[in-house]
Amino acid sequence: MVSSDKIFIGVAWPYANGSLHLGHLAGCYLPADIFARFCRMTGKDVLMVSGSDEHGTPITITASNEGVSPKQIVDRYHREHTENMKTLGISFDLFTRTTAENHRRIVQEIFKTLYDKGYIYPREDEAFYCEHCRRFLPDRYIEGTCPYCGNKNARGDQCDECGKLLDPKDLMDVRCKLCGNTPVLKKTKHMFFALSKFEEKLLLWMRDKNHWRANVKKFTENWIKNGLKDRAITRDIEWGIPVPVEGFEDKRIYVWFDAVIGYLSASIQWANEQKEPDKWQEWWKNKDAKHYYFLAKDNIPFHTIIWPSILMGYDENLALPYDVPANEYLRLEGEQFSKSRGLAIWIPDIIKKFDVDAIRYYLSINMPENRDSNWMWNDFVAKNNDELLGIYGNLVHRVLTFTWKNFGKVPEQGELDEDDRAIIKEIEKTSQEVAEYLSKCSFKKALRSIMSLAQKGNVY
Ligand SMILES: [Zn+2]
Ligand SMILES: [Zn+2]
Repeated sequence: MVSSDKIFIGVAWPYANGSLHLGHLAGCYLPADIFARFCRMTGKDVLMVSGSDEHGTPITITASNEGVSPKQIVDRYHREHTENMKTLGISFDLFTRTTAENHRRIVQEIFKTLYDKGYIYPREDEAFYCEHCRRFLPDRYIEGTCPYCGNKNARGDQCDECGKLLDPKDLMDVRCKLCGNTPVLKKTKHMFFALSKFEEKLLLWMRDKNHWRANVKKFTENWIKNGLKDRAITRDIEWGIPVPVEGFEDKRIYVWFDAVIGYLSASIQWANEQKEPDKWQEWWKNKDAKHYYFLAKDNIPFHTIIWPSILMGYDENLALPYDVPANEYLRLEGEQFSKSRGLAIWIPDIIKKFDVDAIRYYLSINMPENRDSNWMWNDFVAKNNDELLGIYGNLVHRVLTFTWKNFGKVPEQGELDEDDRAIIKEIEKTSQEVAEYLSKCSFKKALRSIMSLAQKGNVY
């Protein structure tokens, strides 16, 4: 059960390089919002933040494909994301962006501190370079075959099929994303984050995390047990946060290192906007505060390994994640959502055609909590008609019209008979059950309990 009064909710930052689709909504925004609303209703002090992830190669590649500047891309999609979140009723305290000045300042400060403490250090490295394009090929500028699952279109930073984080040199049959040529390895110098120094600490921290979802725990433990490797956290790229160390002026900080710091920087920005600049500490420097992170499964290692390590290295007093209830994937009629194959239902489209509550209901009753789930159009219609309208809507409508017709107002309570007492007991039981489920981020079960009570109400 949630026992602390201060609840921090961090929700994965969407890249500002394209529209959001239903997979994003089911993966993290909807569960985070349900949890935030539940916590607020039970009197908790909730701080929920996120924002647009505006750096990195996803942005620059989209910009060069369209022949516009990265700034134009992120401005366009940040505006769209912000409007979509509002329409969908995702109740953020702050939805900001990683190009915010406050964010840059805090990322550089954390980088500098970790560097001074020896957790970040320079190292000569070899990186792929395209002689045709005359440039280094960081992250998504390189594609090849995943050594773990054989996916032929794995990207330099991560394989979309198996979710493994990759170093470009792990890939087989590498090619330049821009021109298709085979790149060569060339010497370059980068800053490395000493992830290996956090192995013991992470294992110790994980010991009491028995409330984590099984897949999150297993994934994280396996990662640590396979040995944590130090990771390059700078890139040969022009778009991003400058490295605050002499001699690295032409490099930028790796997008994932910068993005996760957004949870802290957004909290500080929120406090500044409240005109109470120290207020963020009530969540971050409070050992009783509980921190929840909502994200889809491909983002697990960034939130259970990399972000906790950054926090531990930077300031021991900062709160670490309490729970990371990562969701599996939502699929579309049995297929994986895929931008390149045009297989997606885009948020800006669907919110024009359907009521937001209908979308939220179907995604909640069908949430990919412990395994992938499917968006099926006929099921979407059926679940809304048969359940949301047929059961819940019917109950509300019947109760209100009966009351209005017979009394014109809420009547005084009369003598209770056996049926009355039974249904009151049922209501109390369900309310406890639902609270229990919600506090464990078990949203599907909570909604099923509510619907089953509504059904009993219709029989009563
Ligand atoms: Zn793979
Ligand atoms: Zn090339």
